[in-house]
Amino acid sequence: MADVALECTGLVKSYTDGARRIEVLRGVDLQVRSGERIAIVGRSGSGKSTLLNLLGGLDLPSSGSVSLAGRSFSQLLEKERSRWRNRQLGFVFQFHHLMPEFTALEAVAMPARIGGEQRSSANGRARQLLEAVGLSDRLEHRPGQLSGGERQRVAIARALINRPGVVLMDEPTGNLDPESAGRVLALLQTLETENAALVVVTHDQSIARQMSRQLELRDGLLREADDALD
Ligand code: ADP
Ligand code: MG
Repeated sequence: MADVALECTGLVKSYTDGARRIEVLRGVDLQVRSGERIAIVGRSGSGKSTLLNLLGGLDLPSSGSVSLAGRSFSQLLEKERSRWRNRQLGFVFQFHHLMPEFTALEAVAMPARIGGEQRSSANGRARQLLEAVGLSDRLEHRPGQLSGGERQRVAIARALINRPGVVLMDEPTGNLDPESAGRVLALLQTLETENAALVVVTHDQSIARQMSRQLELRDGLLREADDALD
C-alpha cells in the first residue's frame, strides 16, 4: 500500500538480564500512514524508547518486522539500512545527541551531506530550517553555547533536512522547561511536515492531544489510549 509510511508486525523484543528474560514488547503491530501523527504514551519503563528505536531501525527486534517506505529493515544489510534510514527517516532523541564540535549549521546540514548533497545547497537548506525554528542568530553556535530548548530545536531541524517520510521523536520536550517545551510544540504545529508521518513518544498531554491518534504502550502491547487522555 503506497500510503503506508511505516509499519511493524508482531514486534517482540526481549532482553536477558542474567538468568532473567525480560520481554519488553510482546507483539506490537502498528501501521502509520503518510501525514498521520501518532502519540505514544506509557509509564516509564514500558518500552517506548525500545519501540521507537526498533521503528527507526536503530536496533533489531527479537522477532517480527519493521518496514519503512515499503522496505523491510531485516532484509537490508547494515550499510543499506543506514542509507535508507538517512534518506527516509528523521529521528529526534530524548537527549539531543548533537556532537560538541559542530556548529548548529554544520549539525543540521550533516544528514544532507552524508546523503551526497553539495555543501552549498545543504547549508542553504540548513539555514532555512534553523530560521524556521527561530535560530537564525545561532548558526555558528556549538551545543555547549546553546540552551536545552535551542539544542532540541537544532535536533528537530536536523531530523527534517532530508525531507523524511517519517519523523520519530522520543520525548522531544521531556528535558525542557515549560517555555522551551511550548516553543517546540509550536514548532511541531507550524513546520511543514504535512506529508511526513510523525510518531512522538511523550509524557506531555498537550502534545499527545494534538496528534491524530493516541496509543498507549502497556504490558508490552500497544492499544488505543483515547480514554486515558480525558
Ligand atoms: P521507556 O522508554 O518506556 O521508559 P525503555 O524502552 O527505555 O522504556 O525500557 C523498557 C524496559 O527495557 C526497561 O525495563 C529497561 O530497563 C529495559 N531495557 C531497555 N534497554 C535495555 C537493554 N539494552 N538491556 C537490558 N534491558 C533494557
Ligand atoms: Mg524512554
